[in-house]
Amino acid sequence: MRAAVEQGLIGPEQPVVGLLDVTGIRAAAAELRAAFDEVVAPGTPVLHAFAVKAASLVPVLRLLTDEGLGCEVASPGELALARAAGTDTDRIVLDSPAKTPAELREALDLGIALNADNPQELARLDALVAGTPTRSPLGLRVNPQVGGGSIGALSTATETSKFGVALRDVGARDWVVRAFAERPWLTRLHAHVGSQGCPLDLMAAGVQAAYELAEEINETIGRRQIDTLDIGGGLPVNFTSDEVTPSYREYTQLLKTTVPGLLDGRYGLVTEFGRSLLAKSGVVLARVEYAKSAGGRPIAVTHAGAQLATRTVFAPTAWPLRIAPYDADGRPKPTGPAGPVTQDIAGPCCFAGDLVAENRALPELTAGDLVGLLDTGAYYFSNHFAYNSLPRPGVYGFAPDGDGIRFAEVRKPQTVAEIVAESGGAEAEGLTAL
Ligand SMILES: *Cc1c(COP(=O)(O)O)cnc(C)c1O
Repeated sequence: MRAAVEQGLIGPEQPVVGLLDVTGIRAAAAELRAAFDEVVAPGTPVLHAFAVKAASLVPVLRLLTDEGLGCEVASPGELALARAAGTDTDRIVLDSPAKTPAELREALDLGIALNADNPQELARLDALVAGTPTRSPLGLRVNPQVGGGSIGALSTATETSKFGVALRDVGARDWVVRAFAERPWLTRLHAHVGSQGCPLDLMAAGVQAAYELAEEINETIGRRQIDTLDIGGGLPVNFTSDEVTPSYREYTQLLKTTVPGLLDGRYGLVTEFGRSLLAKSGVVLARVEYAKSAGGRPIAVTHAGAQLATRTVFAPTAWPLRIAPYDADGRPKPTGPAGPVTQDIAGPCCFAGDLVAENRALPELTAGDLVGLLDTGAYYFSNHFAYNSLPRPGVYGFAPDGDGIRFAEVRKPQTVAEIVAESGGAEAEGLTAL
């Protein structure tokens, strides 16, 4: 934080910035690889496809590619980012629930793996594959309906989730088996049970359901048509301390006991982790513009609010963040002699609920201090909310350099001119001329 202040990344002119720990990201990628290497049979093909929505920044994707990861994409934009990062097309997986015919055709032309979401999409693939054979590995997403976690909006394996073919619905299982039997080119099964809030045993239960279905399909068809299982992502992140828990290793050890057959080398594996690869390696650093008080409550008005920490602001119980206080030089701010002060940490948006922390006991913040929103490396830099036309902040990666810290630009801060341009600036006469 001190280096960010000294090197001018944050200050009165740039009052909020995103920082990414490059060493930490590399370490998380290495832990992911090692956790799976430890449990799969030697020679098992494993593709770890990073869920791009968790950090849709080209240099981050390039870094992960350098660490041997691929990309899981869910829109033409994410696909373009993965390609801009130089990810090989055979290391990209397309998973969106609403792929248009043009998107399907593009993926097939490029040889990108994709998972069909539903029977209608499979029918579209029938037509496309009949016309031109494809190199793309093709799969079907199923919803094992094993239940939800603590955050409903991120639980994708509930009874009524919008994703995939709901496996326990009447007739669905038989339909899936027949769908594979009729399509020799359908060789993958995909299940992603959910994200933050899903316990490991729920994730493992979803993977087990997909594995058992694959076994049943291959047995019915009489050959090993399904050769790869895509087990999704969703490892939860601990937002309450520095500890990384659960670890990838805990998850793979659980898979080893729950679904040993998945790891014995008969199936290739695809994973799609997002949050767990990046969260702990990122921090939002924001300046306190004013420190005021209302109704006896101290309030630090900062430059990090709903535009950055959208989920935290709108669903604070599901997405609480730790706040680290610093002085204006980026030094940890000590608690004063009178002890910590219960205060609100507010953002810059013009609505009353724009608080990233409410009633939080912290050293009393004053104007010019800095606050760090910890564990924000995943999703916080890629899901900007354009409320009040607030700019997307700059994002910088950092790594040790001798006795100091070296920064590299990941994304420039958005300029006011760019905001005007993307807000119809060139169309100023558009409505009055009608
Ligand atoms: C969001 C998503 C992921 C990544 O989830 P994390 O919780 O970030 O690991 C993986 N697969 C699919 C299909 C997703 O929608």
